[in-house]
Amino acid sequence: MTGSLPAPRRAELRSIRSRNGLFLDQGLVIHFPGPASFTGEDSAELHVHGGRATVRAVLDALAEFPGLRAADAGEFSRRAFHNGKLDLVEIEGLADIVAAQTEMQRRLALEHASGGVSRLYDDWARRLTYARAMIEAELDFADEEDVPGAVGQTVRDDLVALGGELRAHLAGSRTGEIIRDGLTVVIAGPPNVGKSSLINYLAKRDVAIVTDIPGTTRDIVSVDLDLDGFAVRVLDTAGIRETDEVVEREGIRRARSAMAQADLILRLLDRGEMPGTADMEGAVATIYVASKADIHPRSDVAPSVVSVSTLTGDGIDGLLERIRGHLPQLGQYNAFAVPSRDRHNEALRLTLRALEEALSLPLNELELQAENLRLAANEIGRITGRVDVENLLDVIFAEFCIGK
Ligand code: GDP
Repeated sequence: MTGSLPAPRRAELRSIRSRNGLFLDQGLVIHFPGPASFTGEDSAELHVHGGRATVRAVLDALAEFPGLRAADAGEFSRRAFHNGKLDLVEIEGLADIVAAQTEMQRRLALEHASGGVSRLYDDWARRLTYARAMIEAELDFADEEDVPGAVGQTVRDDLVALGGELRAHLAGSRTGEIIRDGLTVVIAGPPNVGKSSLINYLAKRDVAIVTDIPGTTRDIVSVDLDLDGFAVRVLDTAGIRETDEVVEREGIRRARSAMAQADLILRLLDRGEMPGTADMEGAVATIYVASKADIHPRSDVAPSVVSVSTLTGDGIDGLLERIRGHLPQLGQYNAFAVPSRDRHNEALRLTLRALEEALSLPLNELELQAENLRLAANEIGRITGRVDVENLLDVIFAEFCIGK
């Protein structure tokens, strides 16, 4: 289609033609011979003009070639995985890069996609396998001279340290979740306290209907904000009150369920209402907000209550500051090396459990220790999709003189 093939990995201008020589477009053509390509296979890129008809004509011409078909969703990444180009964590990171909306999401995704987190997991898998190899060596060849004796203690020290690293890493899972999925903030309170006005003010546009008729918001209205690079999802809910109206009742049910799942509740207080009567008191982090400060200034509430007016904008900065306090603190240099998915958390917890089990066993229970370490290494290997620990055993045994 392009006449001659460009030099590998060089963009060259070509006329692109159909099989029977019909001129379709002119554009850059790049050819990546495997294995130095994204999937590891031979691949080529045709950079054509973006008009629908041009793209269609080129795709139709490509479809004329026997054996050529369009890729399925995710097929390039799947092939990259099978050809050992990317592991599962890197692929998930890549998907997150594509979906990233905020700066922090982008940085978290990049850390995963670029292999930073995978290196951590590979290192842990290697240490678990090394420990297991040492224990098995002690088991099998305890009377051989060349096997380092009393491996027990050194191996144990490293495993105890590894347990600490795993626990610290798991402690960051909440951070990873908040960065990836956003902090969910629910605005709640009785009807007419100004909930919809607040979400509109924060969104800088009219997302929710504001009226002085109580009970207008029935369904949940949501906006995504970017606060210091973090995704924050703010939900406006139906005002909680007793009502016989069916639609409003459903709205209130949804409001309660949103509150139960929130990371943070902004509980707007009615005139004269005091903190402490909220539905989710204690269950979910709550910031109390006294609304309509311009017409109902309050001096009777505790200093922890934020007074705001969506009419004048007074107090909104202070409220945002308080919300910031619920965002993850990313002080450390490796702040983005945190688990980003439930799948990772689950496997990490199972790894830790098997490791702790191995450590809790009596020192002479070498077989059971080895078995638990095998389980731990397998679990960690499932995160990246690379469970190739058997090869490592060969490497380790090669260090010894056994079987010489
Ligand atoms: P919601 O039912 O809690 O969502 O309350 P709305 O946002 O619909 O507001 C109810 C009424 O209070 C509307 O008439 C708003 O214009 C008014 N309101 C909301 N916030 C303020 C405020 O900060 N100052 C003043 N003066 N009025 C407000």
